Amino acid sequence: MSQAPSTDPVDISVSPSRREMRVLWKDGHESVYPFDLLRRECPCALCDDQRGKASASTGPSLTVLSGPVLKTGQVQVENVSPVGRYAINFVWSDRHDSGIYSFDYLRSLCPCPSCRQDRAAGPR
Ligand SMILES: [Zn+2]
Ligand SMILES: [Zn+2]
Repeated sequence: MSQAPSTDPVDISVSPSRREMRVLWKDGHESVYPFDLLRRECPCALCDDQRGKASASTGPSLTVLSGPVLKTGQVQVENVSPVGRYAINFVWSDRHDSGIYSFDYLRSLCPCPSCRQDRAAGPR
């Protein structure tokens, strides 16, 4: 149970029609990330900053991002490119392109029930 999840992807497929990205990890685990999730969890400093502000105020954590505001269900990927061997970069349909999604980060973002449960169980 204490084995660290693999952060080596063996297969990545991005499907604009389904608006999701699938990553198959070396340990056999498959993660499916809706674009909405990925856009919302953009790890760049700008989005990080805006999420910090949003959570500091009360109310629902609706994040207003730079550029044209995209509602859930509208986010689309314009381009995806690898960043070295450790990360990928998305260009979103709102022109935001500064997020570098490392595989470590993606793995920790996996929205599947078993990963959620692992994360809820305590610090990694
Ligand atoms: Zn960002
Ligand atoms: Zn998972």
